[in-house]
Amino acid sequence: MISLDLSGKKALVMGVANARSLGWAIAEQLLAAGARVAFSYQGERLRPELEKLTKDYSGVLLRQADATSEDDLTALFAAIKAEFGQLDAVVHAIGFAPREAMEGRFLDTTAADWNTTLSVSAYSLVSMCRHAEPLLTEGSSVISLTYHASQKVVPKYNVMGVAKAALEAATRYLAAEMGAKGVRVNTISAGPMRTIAARSIPGFSTMYDQAAKAAPLGRNATSQEVGKLGLFLLSDLASGITGQVVYVDAGSSVMAMKMDN
Ligand code: NAP
Repeated sequence: MISLDLSGKKALVMGVANARSLGWAIAEQLLAAGARVAFSYQGERLRPELEKLTKDYSGVLLRQADATSEDDLTALFAAIKAEFGQLDAVVHAIGFAPREAMEGRFLDTTAADWNTTLSVSAYSLVSMCRHAEPLLTEGSSVISLTYHASQKVVPKYNVMGVAKAALEAATRYLAAEMGAKGVRVNTISAGPMRTIAARSIPGFSTMYDQAAKAAPLGRNATSQEVGKLGLFLLSDLASGITGQVVYVDAGSSVMAMKMDN
């Protein structure tokens, strides 16, 4: 029987806002498998929620860090080094686009909104990996979260689709460089999930309903299914997989149009 025992392993999850967060879905699996997990959150207002979520787990580390701040990242990884010594698993579950950039036309995207979206949602993966690098060892694994709007046009996803394309390309470049040290880098392409970040996407409910109808499985994937894929990619079971965009979307991305049945 194959069982996943991550006891003794150390993980960092960046980007948990509440129990619906995809970062939490992955963290729950890591914790259940016995890993020790550190969490970073953007602002102090999120700390009470994280304290509540993690109260039954021992050895958890909670640290504030804005993923776009070099100073915050330096302090975060110094704290993790002091407490954990190394990192076996790193989860980037961060995304943000200014609401106005998703309300209007893509053509009207401002340089400021473009820069903010790509900085928070894509560049932060690169800086996170750079800061994590000294703590990563042979077999360590990094994952992030992307969405199919990187490949196909999803109305209103706009500059966030460009940021996800950048995140996916960055995953390949990071995998190519970090592979020399035995570190793997992959990204999970999740179908639509009802999270706080999703709420800021205009027309999200329509997107959610249409994806479920089009999907071969006749439903949307669940956050628990994202968590299980995350656990797999972060574990030794995925030891030969790196640089990949791995889908968990009940198959909706393979459909060019809905089948009549
Ligand atoms: P979520 O629960 O709202 O999580 C997003 C997290 O990103 C929040 O904790 C947010 O913190 C954090 N964040 C934003 N800017 C940050 C910054 N500068 N520094 C540090 N943290 C920052 O939403 P989610 O849907 O789980 O999102 C996680 C990832 O999954 C994102 O990359 C998202 O694009 C991706 N994804 C989501 C879906 C979906 O349908 N939900 C589908 C595919 C991929 P604040 O709350 O403080 O802003």
